[in-house]
Amino acid sequence: MVKCEKCGFDNPTNLKFCGNCGARLGAIAETPKFEGLALLHITASAYLIISLIFNALVQASMMFIIPYIASALLGFYAGYEFYIGKISKYLKFVSALAIIIGLASTFLLFWIGLEIRGVIGPAWVIFIINLWILWKERARL
Ligand SMILES: [Zn+2]
Repeated sequence: MVKCEKCGFDNPTNLKFCGNCGARLGAIAETPKFEGLALLHITASAYLIISLIFNALVQASMMFIIPYIASALLGFYAGYEFYIGKISKYLKFVSALAIIIGLASTFLLFWIGLEIRGVIGPAWVIFIINLWILWKERARL
């Protein structure tokens, strides 16, 4: 049974229009939600911006500054689009690009941080999780 959104009448599942009021059934199509991906992208992007502002090692080289900014901007964009459920055919590529750039640059920073015994958080972990969730959701995108 499908409950009519307008009048609440229970209709058999094979009907397109409500048998009671004539309203289109399922007209309010459910927008797929990608809150997990949105949250991961926004968290990762926020982390990159905070690192960019406060981490001297990041500021020391364009090798970090450029990919940090690129990944953060792509990530904020992808996160926003996932949040509002506006899924264009390019979104998964934007999302993957933000993740790959972020993963590569934060992993490199982590590696250099280990070498000089700096206190560098493993931010790349969040990009691994983000990539995993994107892979799991790929069929819906
Ligand atoms: Zn109805």
